[in-house]
Amino acid sequence: VGPEGPRAVVFDLDDTLIDWWTAIARAASEVAEPEAVDRLLRVVRSDAWEIRDDGAVHRRHWEVREHPGRFWRAVGEPETAAGTGAVVAAFGRALRPRLFRDVLSALDTVAGRARIAVLTNSPHAAADLDVLGVSHRVDHVLSLDGALRKPALEGFAASCERLDCRPAEVMYVGDSPRVDVEPALEAGMRAAWIDRFDDPWTPPPGAVRLSSLEDLAWFLP
Ligand SMILES: [Mg+2]
Repeated sequence: VGPEGPRAVVFDLDDTLIDWWTAIARAASEVAEPEAVDRLLRVVRSDAWEIRDDGAVHRRHWEVREHPGRFWRAVGEPETAAGTGAVVAAFGRALRPRLFRDVLSALDTVAGRARIAVLTNSPHAAADLDVLGVSHRVDHVLSLDGALRKPALEGFAASCERLDCRPAEVMYVGDSPRVDVEPALEAGMRAAWIDRFDDPWTPPPGAVRLSSLEDLAWFLP
């Protein structure tokens, strides 16, 4: 991070702004016994987390919303399996993800000091931000699909163009080393890694680690 702060901050959505893990655990506990909840969370960890040798973890918690039946079937509990259709449907209704508790104060901190955007692979981003009451807080939302999906660099460049900024003037903030931090740096942006799960990964030079999004205050003009 240079002496001058970034002119814009671009956020990843899932597991950066939206707290999927808590939402999954809460929804599961509304529809299943504690032992089945524990087993579901273990399935999510083994099926939706990619753990690299250097300690980097990429999490695809959003898949639980897209394919809840796949995860519940893997729980393998006889009574759950017997009622899979009903359990999955009830789980889907109960799954109402919220923002992490540091998001609103972080958006307050950034607003007025830098512009704010969202860049995500989620096709539901605009609707999710609307439901969460923060769509008016962001300059633009880019939902990438096909070959443009992160970690492809084109999406990062497109977001900078929409902000009318050079990549070096933009800080990308995300939870995933592989699809957020590393490609943002490669695209010439500044990068901040939000360490939501206390992972044993050290970000490369040029990237900073945040334990809370409120820490962004240190890096703004
Ligand atoms: Mg993410």
